[in-house]
Formats: sequence, C-alpha cells, structure tokens
Amino acid sequence: MRPRLDNKHTKIVATIGPASREPDVLRDMIRAGMNVARINFSHGDRETHGRVIEHIRRISAEEDSVVAILCDIQGPKIRLGMFEPEPMVLDIGDTITLTSDDVVGSNGVVSLPHPEFVRDIRAGTILLLDDGNLQFRVKEADGRNLVCNVVVGGALKPRKGVSAPNARLTLSAITEKDREDIRFALAQDCDYIAMSFVRSANDIRELKTLMAELGKDAAIIAKIEMGEALENIEEIIEICDGIMVARGDLGIETPAEEVPYHQKRIIKLCNAAAKPVITATQMLESMTDNPRPTRAEASDVYNAILDGTDAIMLSAESASGNYPVRSVEVMSEIATIAERNLHNFSTLATDAMEGIRASQSREDSSIAISRATFDISQAIEPKAIVTTSMSGYTTRRVAKERPRTPILCMTPMATTQRRMALVWGVTPLLVEEFTTIDEMISIIIRAAHDKGLVRRGDRLVIIAGVPFGIDGRTNLIKIHIVGEEGEI
Ligand code: PEP
Repeated sequence: MRPRLDNKHTKIVATIGPASREPDVLRDMIRAGMNVARINFSHGDRETHGRVIEHIRRISAEEDSVVAILCDIQGPKIRLGMFEPEPMVLDIGDTITLTSDDVVGSNGVVSLPHPEFVRDIRAGTILLLDDGNLQFRVKEADGRNLVCNVVVGGALKPRKGVSAPNARLTLSAITEKDREDIRFALAQDCDYIAMSFVRSANDIRELKTLMAELGKDAAIIAKIEMGEALENIEEIIEICDGIMVARGDLGIETPAEEVPYHQKRIIKLCNAAAKPVITATQMLESMTDNPRPTRAEASDVYNAILDGTDAIMLSAESASGNYPVRSVEVMSEIATIAERNLHNFSTLATDAMEGIRASQSREDSSIAISRATFDISQAIEPKAIVTTSMSGYTTRRVAKERPRTPILCMTPMATTQRRMALVWGVTPLLVEEFTTIDEMISIIIRAAHDKGLVRRGDRLVIIAGVPFGIDGRTNLIKIHIVGEEGEI
C-alpha cells in the first residue's frame, strides 16, 4: 500500500491487545486506516509489547505507511488489596475499614496497599470503588486507617479501583512500575508516551526530568482523567505535546453527564494551541461483540470530529474485541463522512478559531502564514498544502486551521515524520535535508512524485521557513505547479 493524499483527515489510534497483536491483523488494521498503535502498559508484559512494536515497525514499512507507537503508561492507579472471603457484600450504612497495613483483609477490614494515598485522605472524603459502583464516606482518618460508612453498597471484590475525586493527592504521578515501563518504551524508540492520572504541569515536568536522566526523548500525551487536571488544563496543554480526553476514568472522577462538556472544552483549547488531541474510550464499545456500531456510537465518533478532535481511539474494541479490523474500518467510514460536513456544522470555524486567532502572538509569522495558507487553499483548491518542517510546529499550525486540502509534511527528521501520524489531515513524508529554496523545491517535488502523491501539472501551496530549520520562522508561501521548474 502506498501513502495516499485523499485519505481521511482524522487519525485513528487503535489499542493493540490479544485480539490484534498478530501480524496479519496488524497489517489489515494499517490498511483500514490505523495511524497510531497504542500499547497499553496496564496490561500484558514487556516482552509481548516489544514483539508488537517490532511487528508494527516492520509491517508499516512494508506497507509504506507511517504508524506512530504510543506507549500508554499505567500511572498511580489505586487498587484494593486482597481480602477473604470475597466478594464482600456491603449494604448502605455498614462500616468498613480500609487499611494501608500489610494484611489480608476480612470481617469489615480491606487492605488498601497505597500508604501515600491513605495519608492524603481526610474525614468527609467520598471514595468511589469499582468504577463508582460502590461509594464510601470516610468517617475517621488517622493516616493509616480509613473508617468508612457505606453510602452506595454492593458486592466488593479484591483489586478493584479506588478513587477520591475531591481529594488533593500528593503521590507521585510515576510509580516504580511506570519508571521501568518508561525506560523500556524509550529503549524501543516509541514516538509518544501517554501519562495517566496527570494532575498538573508538574507531573509532566517529572516525566521530562526522567526522560532527560535516561537520555531519551518522546513526545508526551497527557491523559485528562482527573478533576484536578481540568482545573489546570491550560498549563498542561502548554507543556505537553498532545492530550487524550480519557473519558473512561474522567467519567468516574467527574459526573459522567459532564464529560461531553469537558471533551468539547479540552478539544477547543487544544485546537487553539495547535496541539493534537485524542478522544478516547467506548467510542464503538458495542463493536467489541458486534460487527456494527449502535447509532449512538456512530454519532459519538461523528460529533467528536465536528468538535475538532485530531484523533479518535479504539480501546477494548481493537485490543480484545471480536472485530478489531472492522472497528478501524467503521471509524474510517464515519470520519470520512464527518469531514465532508466539518465546515458546515463545526464550531471550529466560528467561536474557537476566531477567539484563538484574536489571542495569538503577532511575533510568530508561522501563525499568519498558516492562516493565509488556509485562505489560499480555499480559493484555489490545490492538490496539497506542502509544509517543510523540522519539529512539526509549522505543520501543526496549518492543521489547526482544518483546511479541506490534504497537508503533506516534508521533514528530514524520522521522529517528526512518525509524530505527525497523529495530527489531523497530515500525510508525513521523509525527505533529504536541503539548504536552498531551489534544492527544497526539487527535493520535495521529486519525493512526492516518486510516491505517486502528485503529478505533473498539479497545483501545490508550499510553505517554508528560510533559513531552514527554525521553528516559528515560516516566512515563505509559493504556489507551485508540479514540473514547471523542471524538477521532475
Ligand atoms: C480512560 O480512562 O478513558 C483511558 C483511556 O485510560 P485507561 O484505558 O488507560 O484506563
């Protein structure tokens, strides 16, 4: 398969798991439109993850397709310890003690083996257990034991998740297991690291420091799934390279009814900052078992695209479901239809964009050039917008304008090429380095022509920064007819 310019603009992130880790399934998922493979470190072992990464790299090269690897790190997920007998059936009004002591719980005592978490919990805190199916109110807290009243009862099982949506937690965002997983992911040259349970920019700083210590780099995606992260969303977007709206945990940490509002707000802020945003979790949930989505799921995917998301994500549907390839196909089909209507219905072109345009710095010429590129492409409908980019900065700025025209990102950096796989509307292509404008024209046109992406006579809008390689220095727009300067 060769890269195509008329591909859908919305990117698909698919979680790889037992249902999708064999090479033939991965190949079919790439052909169906998977742009980013998510390796979920909450499950599986490193040896299996390493094999999957190897398969994806090999198969995507064979398919002449760019697929980014996103390693999703588990983070400080708080879970109950063991207790017997299980399940423990609890009724409203019952008293139960959660203890950080190293015990196997029984008779109204359950172990919670996270001393740092228990230390932060105060009397009056509401605890949600098992994805919010049970609720406790903490009556007494002494730093080791939490004596709780059961507010919503049910059958409690060991190892279930616990969250405290309104507590201020001081525990580190990176656990010992995360540290080893990050070391492993970086050693595999992963493109993105997704950090779970981010609360503030400081958590991202901690990850950056760790990466610097390890002497390796990857782009960072902050998963927004905690109330505290919503409060700090602007600073988080500013410091990280992209955002995931992690609607699963977000719908536990905050009321599920509020998740659509948070999704729309986060997407707008990311669009404004030209940072890629992924909308995640239960997008096509029923396709875990069925070959067709529900109408509500199709609407969910469609609406996320109208909201302005760069990418839509599959979780269980592709990791453990019965229809991993079909799920990618369905997402691609919905995306293609939604994109046709993006400019009719989306709020992108109105409040988000206008507000954002007004607020941005006049220093950065790439912003003005990106807007002009959008206007020119609307007027002359070229075959492609061609950006030349070292870090992807200019390309993201153009993508944020959401032109109908495909964006061809020409970069000499393999890391940038793969990172651009997540960004809306961008087909990334690796090219040799160039130093002069003539050399640039000749190299990029030949590269696009060799890949069958453009033909003699096609009109392109090319933007670049001269001298080359300086972010924010985009200062050249050229309307170019392929072949007019004898480049091919
Ligand atoms: C989520 O909670 O929506 C999410 C993507 O995180 P995870 O699947 O890692 O729990």
